[in-house]
Formats: sequence, structure tokens, C-alpha cells
Amino acid sequence: MNEIAAFCQSLKKDFTRREQNPRQPVHCWSEKEGFDGMVADAYVIILRTRGCSWMLSSGCTMCGYFNDSMFTRVSEEDLQAQFDNAIQHYKGEKIIKLFTSGSFLDSSELSESVQRYILNSIPSNVEKISVESRPQYITEERVIGIKETLSSKEFEIGIGLETSNDLIREHAINKGFSFQDYVRAVMLLQKHQIKVKTYVLMKPPFLTEKEALDDCILTTKETKRYADSISLNPTNVQHQTVVEYLWKRNQYRPPWLWSIVEYLKQSTSFTDAFVKCDVVGGGSRRGPHNCGICDKKVLDAITEFSLSQDKSTFQNLSCDCQEKWRDQLNLETLSFGSFVDFLRWNP
Ligand code: SF4
Ligand SMILES: [Zn+2]
Repeated sequence: MNEIAAFCQSLKKDFTRREQNPRQPVHCWSEKEGFDGMVADAYVIILRTRGCSWMLSSGCTMCGYFNDSMFTRVSEEDLQAQFDNAIQHYKGEKIIKLFTSGSFLDSSELSESVQRYILNSIPSNVEKISVESRPQYITEERVIGIKETLSSKEFEIGIGLETSNDLIREHAINKGFSFQDYVRAVMLLQKHQIKVKTYVLMKPPFLTEKEALDDCILTTKETKRYADSISLNPTNVQHQTVVEYLWKRNQYRPPWLWSIVEYLKQSTSFTDAFVKCDVVGGGSRRGPHNCGICDKKVLDAITEFSLSQDKSTFQNLSCDCQEKWRDQLNLETLSFGSFVDFLRWNP
């Protein structure tokens, strides 16, 4: 195990697990989503499983999803009860997103019979189902099994590639798989007409704001052949992560909302994929933010673009803090480290 993996593992050692009810999902809610050129409703269910297998061995530097995990095996009966409880609140949404804070296709989180039970219980009027998985669980056998269960629905698998750069993925994110692993999984999904959503991470630790923005743009270019849609995930500071460790020591700042806007504005010129961005914790010190004055306006424009793909939503955005953001892009490498967030730092 390399140093960054060992560090990720060590941060979970003194983690106090909360009492969790294994028969209730982590959360479920309804949200808007771009679908077939329109805006549709999507019902999101997050199931509480044992947790991501990669997290149990070390985990990614920015990921605090384990805060929602059980860490022990959850019985098939309990997992089915979680889904049954969640689906009671379903209100006819066209899209269902089934997340686990890990991999839906990992049989040590959800056995194949639980996966089948859930997919067979999806209401008949749902038109699209979306799940997430690390590439190693995407096998021909599993893909054929899914196609047999869901022949008439659109199925999408989201893969957390984060970056096309293997060096950054290994040393700054500790992701535990390569670009080639992603490509292999995507080829298999394309062969079986399953859609691919690629998650791109904006601002892993150890990268400057400019390096992070350039990496997102390059990743989007290099996944042009592979991604049907791109979901940009700007880093937020989650508990007991390497990112939090650095942030508490003034060595990490979450990305500027201006960097997200810049990426989204440029993205349509180098990919045909549908590009969206859900900003978790937007406008807070732990989340992607600007100066505090313009944050709401910029976040609204990002949400609007994510539904419409219309770049004109960014047309009238401006704020004095844009100059500070530009300074950071130009000067940060000279400062030998991440710029401290003086603008909103309030110890
Ligand atoms: S980001 Fe995904 S792969 Fe990494 S530890 Fe979290 S759930 Fe697992
Ligand atoms: Zn501002």
C-alpha cells in the first residue's frame, strides 16, 4: 500500500460510527434532470449498504460517503425493506437513480438477488434507471443479466473516472483503477447499448485551481468517445478525508464557482455529451464558493445550465471577485501551495 492509500485508511481508524437503521435508506428525494432534450423528474434513492469495498480497504482522498455506511453486512431482507420503504414515496417520476455510496453492481454490497429484486420492482412507467459502479464490477455476465431484466428501459451506469490522468487518479485521489480499466468497462457497456455517465472531479487535493480546471477540460476531451453524459463533481470538504485534513491546515480550498462556470462554458465546444454539475455544499466554506455575495446567482446559473445546456445562462454573470479568481489562476504556482481562503477565512 502506498503512502496516500495508507493515510486514507488511517483517517477512518478513529471514526465513530453512528447508529443506523438497516431497514431505512440513507435518503430519497425528487429532483429535476435533463432527459431527451426536456426537463424530467428523477427520484433518487440512496441505499445503506455495508459500504464501498474500496473505501473499506483505503478509499478516495475526497470521499466521506462512509459516514452513511453500515460497515457490517446488511441482510438481503433489510436491503429489500430499504428499497420497499423508499419506493412508497415514489410519485411517478420518469427517472429512478439507485445509489449506494459505493457500487450498485458490487455483490458484496448488494447481492445479485437483491439487485434483481430491486430492478424487477421498478415501477413500469419509469423510462430510465441510473446506477453507479466502479469498473471492475462491470462484467459481461452482469450486463447481460441487467439487459434481460430491463429490456425496455434506458439503463445508465455512472463511473467515477474523476480524471483521465492516471498519475493524478493514483496519487492525488487514490482511486485504485486506471484509465484503461474505465475504457474496458465502457466498451462493454457500449456493446450492450447501456449508457455511460462519467463523473469528472474538479479540484482533487494537491492541484492548484488552474491545474484542476485544465485537468477537467482535458479529461472531457479524452473521454469524448466514451461518455454519453458528463457529471462534473466539484470537491466539497467531507469529514475524515485527506481533503479535510489539508483544509483544516489551510492547505486546500474547494474550487471557485467561477472555475465551474469556465469549465461548463468551454465544455460544449469539445464534447457532444450532456454536461451537468451538481454543486454539493455550494456557497459554503466547505463547498465550492466565490466571495459570498455572488454565490447564489452563480449557483442558480450552474443549475440552469445543467438542465438546459444553454451557455447564455452565464452571459450576465460578473462580480468583483472574478479578478481574485483570475489572480489565483495566474499566481498560485508561484505561491508554492494552495491559496488560503483569506476572503472568507474566519477561524
Ligand atoms: S469515491 Fe467512490 S470509489 Fe472512492 S471511496 Fe468513495 S464510494 Fe468508493
Ligand atoms: Zn463574487
